[in-house]
Amino acid sequence: MPGSILIIEDEEKIARFTELELIHEGYTVDKCTDGRSGLEAALENAYDCVLLDIMLPGINGLEVLRRLRKTSDVPVIMLTARDAVMDKVSGLDMGADDYVTKPFAIEELLARIRLVTRKRAAVKQPEEEYSFGLLSLSVPRHEVTWDGKPVELTGKEFALLETLLENRNIVLSRETLLEKVWGYDYAGETNIVDVYIRYLRSKIDDVYGVRLIQTVRGVGYAVKD
Ligand code: CA
Repeated sequence: MPGSILIIEDEEKIARFTELELIHEGYTVDKCTDGRSGLEAALENAYDCVLLDIMLPGINGLEVLRRLRKTSDVPVIMLTARDAVMDKVSGLDMGADDYVTKPFAIEELLARIRLVTRKRAAVKQPEEEYSFGLLSLSVPRHEVTWDGKPVELTGKEFALLETLLENRNIVLSRETLLEKVWGYDYAGETNIVDVYIRYLRSKIDDVYGVRLIQTVRGVGYAVKD
């Protein structure tokens, strides 16, 4: 699924042409022809990308961007006139992700949309709370609980459990766990992973009578549904 796009553009020909091309590429598209309705639509819906013209009736594109950025980090690509250098600079300063100069080739626009949406996906914050049955792990509070009661873990035990929960249903090799938990240049033996898995099991599996961490012979460890 390529995603959903909002076009805010008052020039009907450009808006229509862009809409058709995007639909052809598999995007779902909404269109607004003035700043006010565009801003409303951008604030009300979770678009993957907003294409924003600068010269708009009502409130102009830069003002739309300024207000949008107070609460939203949706990727924004500005549609600017050829010689409007100041618009481009102001727009980027105000938090636009990119711009294309009109008239643009649709291939360029498509490439820029892919780029800004991919970038946004890549910086998505990792989850900060994990749960597995009665077990919960909170990264910001650095806290593990079982049925609401605290489970005391050391720093490395916590990091190991967090890594396993973050990669739920994926088997992680001892080498991968060593890298993720102890760091790339840790020169120790991968045996240390087995040792810490045993510590975790003695504090969770043995105490609560569960099989949280599974051993996948010859491969590594996983927390599986
Ligand atoms: Ca315009």
